[in-house]
Amino acid sequence: MTTPEPPTDPRYAALFEPVRIGPLVTKNRFFQVPHCNGMGYRDPSAQAAMRRVKAEGGWGVVCTEEVEIHPTSDVAPFVELRLWDDDDVPALARIAEQIHAGGALAGIELAHNGMHAANLYSRETPLGPAHLPVQSYHPVQARAMSLADVADLRRWHRTAVRRAVAAGYDLVYVYAGHDLAGLQHFLSPRYNQRTDAYGGSPENRMRLLREVLEDSVEEATGRAAVACRLTVDELAGPGGLGRAEIEDVVGALGELPDLWDFVVGAWEDDSNTSRFGPEGEHEDAVRGLKALTTKPVVGVGRFTSPDLMVRQVRDGVLDLVGAARPSIADPFLPEKIRTNRLHTIRECIGCNMCVSGDHTMTPIRCTQNPTMGEEYRRGWHPERVRPKGSEGRVLVVGAGPAGLEAARALGVRGYDVVLAEATRELGGRVTAESRLPGLAAWGRVRDHRELALADLGCVEVYRESRMTVEDALEFGFDHVAVATGATWRRDGVGRRHTHAMPVDPGAEVLTPDDLMAGHRPAGRRVVLFDDDHYYLGGVLAELLGGEGYEVHLVTPASQVSAWTANTLELAKVRRRVAAAGVHVRTDRAVTAVRTGYVETACAWTGATEDLAADAVVLVTARLPTGQDLLDGFDSAVADGRLRSVRGIGDAWAPGTIAMAVWSGRRYAEELDTDLPPNDVVPFRREVTRLSEHP
Ligand code: ADP
Ligand code: SF4
Repeated sequence: MTTPEPPTDPRYAALFEPVRIGPLVTKNRFFQVPHCNGMGYRDPSAQAAMRRVKAEGGWGVVCTEEVEIHPTSDVAPFVELRLWDDDDVPALARIAEQIHAGGALAGIELAHNGMHAANLYSRETPLGPAHLPVQSYHPVQARAMSLADVADLRRWHRTAVRRAVAAGYDLVYVYAGHDLAGLQHFLSPRYNQRTDAYGGSPENRMRLLREVLEDSVEEATGRAAVACRLTVDELAGPGGLGRAEIEDVVGALGELPDLWDFVVGAWEDDSNTSRFGPEGEHEDAVRGLKALTTKPVVGVGRFTSPDLMVRQVRDGVLDLVGAARPSIADPFLPEKIRTNRLHTIRECIGCNMCVSGDHTMTPIRCTQNPTMGEEYRRGWHPERVRPKGSEGRVLVVGAGPAGLEAARALGVRGYDVVLAEATRELGGRVTAESRLPGLAAWGRVRDHRELALADLGCVEVYRESRMTVEDALEFGFDHVAVATGATWRRDGVGRRHTHAMPVDPGAEVLTPDDLMAGHRPAGRRVVLFDDDHYYLGGVLAELLGGEGYEVHLVTPASQVSAWTANTLELAKVRRRVAAAGVHVRTDRAVTAVRTGYVETACAWTGATEDLAADAVVLVTARLPTGQDLLDGFDSAVADGRLRSVRGIGDAWAPGTIAMAVWSGRRYAEELDTDLPPNDVVPFRREVTRLSEHP
């Protein structure tokens, strides 16, 4: 029996009004804007399945990521979609077909990446408005486009529109955003130093955009709508493309496309993390542009609050509520608002782990939504999981992200679950870390699961219940998951030192766990040694700097929090630690901790230098806890007192929060399946079809 859906709350009814986009009508205002996913041309069916789930979740429009229209727009090694010739059409058609099958309109972001594309794979000459190096550090320059090149580009784009329509897309994009698109480079006085009809005056600099829009509209008319994605301010200071000039562009070209998609700055500005900016952050940058066109406007802002969405629509900032990350964290966000189940929304935490998939050229992953990127490979679904396949009581030990997700997903499957947590609070590391500067939104990983557990009748949560093997066996469980987490090491072992470093007996050494538990150094001068390279070292330096300690952050990397390059945060971290008064010493490792100072060595030359320090904070590596539990339960399995035991999350191998959540989900998905033997690939993949030409 299906339960009748509760009616939409009248406060949110406006979000479910249809909107006309040229020849199309979208069923509501929810618009999944283009976003990268690290799957691209390599994993087209996986992408199709992922986009379909979004469509099922109620998004009126679901778009692809950027689609390279030509080999001169080759952004290798990044894995995006390609529409270089007809051979690429079937993969793109499959994606469109699956979006339609899910009930949404399909959009495609056609892109020529101009001087952003180093063309490493195609080896074609990069094309730009001027002779300038490509934007990455690849030792390659773009060539100033001739008028013949301009004509070629227009023809390629027109052909791409034709192919996109043939592939079944309803909405085709003209891309001039994020500092990634050639059309933006032509618009921008930073890059465009031409003296011909395509350079100089604003009118000349927008000429190519105008022409490509006109070509696209002509090609699409009667068959598809045309969207223009435009950066509203490069945020590059006086030499860049600013809001005033963008008003002129929208004033001049406003009626050409059927839809405007406004973005802010470069990608790292547009997809700011919660550590550096709030939800709805772009409102001021976008406000007012809608008045310059009669065409609908879409914009983003990491929207998860329907009240904020409604307000921006009511205030005339946006017509369509754009989302990439909120649709990744919760593909069913629109449906949950429509059916008045707001408390079940899996809110994006704004961490940009999803972006790291693109940067590492691997399928997208999400901290909040462990099924993201696994829809096709493993058949996981964000809202559904197959019912339990056997009877059996399950004990999950530890309520960090891994334990919470395991208990939740097992509960949805219908298992009787006990979740035992040693402390009063749920959330484990997420709860501790969400109290650090800028990380409050990360608590949503716990909140979502805590609310979900409360809705489930079959999961009992015991707080202040530190479990031993004997306790657990006494209660007669069939299966146990050990999710007891990990602790930060105090001996300096990590990437740089694989053996403990010398530490004087009297020296004060603190770990991230100490700081998160409220302990503080006795003296004022602190050296923080970051050999972890993700966010925590930078965050703790910021914490101590903000509290008035004299902090020296020492790291063997050449960047502070080097891995945050993958979450678009690198520059922001550097500015933030500088603002907190932290002294940064890159390319240097702490080699010994002495009373009153540390010994350090240059990462390249070994040149030594002592730094005065009353205390040292070591952010190096973690050790799993719970090995005793695993050993004890293993013996119980061996002598038949328990059917299975498995370590999950950081207790198995310390990693990111996203990995812990994923691991919890995997446990729940695989309980009572025949686990594939380790010598079989445990997921589905697409292998390149051989061509007919050996
Ligand atoms: P993960 O990221 O793998 O989920 P966390 O470190 O965030 O790991 O969470 C582990 C949780 O397990 C913490 O809340 C901790 O208090 C709890 N825990 C550790 N040992 C036990 C135990 N023996 N019994 C119950 N809970 C435990
Ligand atoms: Fe949001 Fe983080 Fe998920 Fe990306 S990975 S969608 S930022 S929760």
